[in-house]
Amino acid sequence: MHDREFYKELWTTILSGEVYRNTLINRKKNGDLYYEKKTITPLKDDHQQIVGFISTGKDVTQETMLHQEIERIATIDNLTGIYNRHKFEKLFTLESERSRRFGHPLSMILIDIDHFKSVNDTYGHDIGDSVLKRLADIVQANIRKIDIFARWGGEEFLVLSPNTDLDNIRILAEKLRSAVERADFREAGDITISLGISTFENTDTFSDLFKRADQGLYHAKNNGRNRIGINISG
Ligand code: GH3
Ligand code: MG
Ligand code: MG
Repeated sequence: MHDREFYKELWTTILSGEVYRNTLINRKKNGDLYYEKKTITPLKDDHQQIVGFISTGKDVTQETMLHQEIERIATIDNLTGIYNRHKFEKLFTLESERSRRFGHPLSMILIDIDHFKSVNDTYGHDIGDSVLKRLADIVQANIRKIDIFARWGGEEFLVLSPNTDLDNIRILAEKLRSAVERADFREAGDITISLGISTFENTDTFSDLFKRADQGLYHAKNNGRNRIGINISG
């Protein structure tokens, strides 16, 4: 379960006479894998020569699984499998610091499905849910690896694009809009989205940037939906 680097570090540590501590995946005699919190202590003779190692470990599988489950719940949206609001805000903090430090542009897209309530009312909540999943897949397939994508809540999604200025976020937003317009949503028929875009200013908090994207979205909805809206100040 571990790569060569992992074992190299383990052996380098203990062969240099240091104690090695880590949690690793180990195998029981019956073949089961388990998480083991391990300590390996080099044993030295009077001349400081290593004559052996004492390895002790504790099965921490339950704690580790619980920790991973908590991490997943804190990070991932259950329905779509993309990041949730909490994770998005955390990543925004990192990206905005980077943008401030290096002067790189940073932009945001707020996506809202058009007339989604009538999708639910016409086809039912389960079909509505499948539209949300499909939409998440389409957006994911049309953004870059470094873009951060999350379900903000309900039928609203956010994209945060590092190294992207207003012109380029407009291009990405248009790409998403048209990809959704062209996509086949099966039983749910034609689906469109409205998008609000904004770009990061040095003194912006998350809510400043979000508010401008939300105002852009408001314009897009008012101007007939299935379009991109922008707040006058960007
Ligand atoms: P607009 O074009 O103005 O955005 O109209 P809309 O109907 O999309 O907007 P509105 O905000 O009035 O409705 C959003 C709807 O999204 C209401 C709610 O039923 C639905 N919704 C929110 N979360 C979920 C969800 O997790 N699953 C499903 N199926 N529907 C959801
Ligand atoms: Mg909405
Ligand atoms: Mg909507």
